[in-house]
Amino acid sequence: MIYLQLREYEKLLEHALQCLPEEACGLIGGSQDDLGNSYIEKVYPLENTDHSEEHFSLDPGGQLAAVKEMRANGWKPLGNWHSHPASPSRPSEEDIRLAYDSSALYLILSLMERGAPVLNAFRIEGGHVEKKEIRYIQG
Ligand SMILES: [Zn+2]
Repeated sequence: MIYLQLREYEKLLEHALQCLPEEACGLIGGSQDDLGNSYIEKVYPLENTDHSEEHFSLDPGGQLAAVKEMRANGWKPLGNWHSHPASPSRPSEEDIRLAYDSSALYLILSLMERGAPVLNAFRIEGGHVEKKEIRYIQG
């Protein structure tokens, strides 16, 4: 199970909407327990240095600063997120090919249906995609 602070989801969504029609992206930081649950404490919106509607590259300087802040808060980098402005909330072939970290969470927000955003979380290992359930928590 993945627990996501509602206010952090709202931040992610707002950033993704502001970046339209380009893909938005960023990192997620938090903690994990022994049962394999992940707790996303903070969403970090970062610059998509590709400025593309179909690709993203995380700004390296922004990544460094985000990871530094996570460590300072006692969190760890849990993975990344990006938006799909015009396609479903699942990893594209390119997303799967570029998913080199099998321990990372990949969050994908689809904005394909205006007014009905869809966020899903995945683990990707050796080309195999596994969807993880997200539970939203408040406070
Ligand atoms: Zn993608």
